[in-house]
Amino acid sequence: MSAIDGLPPLRVVIAEHGLSARKSLGQNFLLDLNLTSKIARQAGDLSGCDVLEIGPGPGGLTRGLLAEGARKVLAIEKDARCLPALAEIAAAYRGRLEVVEGDALQVDPLQHLTPPIRIAANLPYNVGTELLVRWLTPRDWPPFWQSLTLMFQREVAERIVAAPGSKAYGRLALLAQWRADARIAMSLPPEAFTPAPKVSSAVVHLTALPAPRYPADPKVLEHVVARAFNQRRKMLRAALKGVAPDIEDRLLAAGIKPTDRAEQVPLEAFCALARAVAEG
Ligand code: SAM
Repeated sequence: MSAIDGLPPLRVVIAEHGLSARKSLGQNFLLDLNLTSKIARQAGDLSGCDVLEIGPGPGGLTRGLLAEGARKVLAIEKDARCLPALAEIAAAYRGRLEVVEGDALQVDPLQHLTPPIRIAANLPYNVGTELLVRWLTPRDWPPFWQSLTLMFQREVAERIVAAPGSKAYGRLALLAQWRADARIAMSLPPEAFTPAPKVSSAVVHLTALPAPRYPADPKVLEHVVARAFNQRRKMLRAALKGVAPDIEDRLLAAGIKPTDRAEQVPLEAFCALARAVAEG
């Protein structure tokens, strides 16, 4: 019996259901329920919130989220082998856990959730960045979620919170920081997972801002940022050639030196550039 919920320890669950980890599904499981409760606590006050979890696996984080008081957890899992283990959790937490078998990139979670909604996940590495970019680039802002509490490889976490002038600074930092507060909430060594991955991990916590930090058209900003960092070693006047016929003037109008490189340009200036490009 485990301390947090009276269900069996995760090692027992994994042995009983034959859940040998599959690399192709990005399966590195968290088996320490004290740790999964700690991660769940990073998501903030869960009482009165629905929580979307991607990739519950054997359910360690799921149990943490439920034990920490989530009103409801919607867990989307691609690996059908995990479903019986998750059904046991659903039975213990009557009516508070809904499991959907499927690919998180295909399932529309909004049909199953009621606001306020938080997202928490130990993400499969192969789809983690794609999901994050989707959550950060909805058509309308504020998004359907209040906060994201997500496990990433340390290197990806650093790209999300990076400041200008650092190697990690790029599209992910700008997308994340334009409309959310982003910080690294926890660091985890490889040994925290079974099996242990090659690299360290970190939990990133993002809180959606009510409105973007600086005004800009999302499509134009995304385009300018993508172009600027596609050739991050080039001066911006070269990297952004063709974005506007008079790109040097637009850069100057935004207060950016055309000889600067993308890595040096802060978010506020990128937003000014997006506005200068849109005006043309
Ligand atoms: N949450 C569990 C934990 O912390 O122990 C498992 C985390 S493991 C890193 C990633 C999980 O995501 C696995 O259970 C895997 O089967 C699942 N998964 C992989 N790709 C998926 C996808 N496209 N959609 C939904 N789940 C996926």
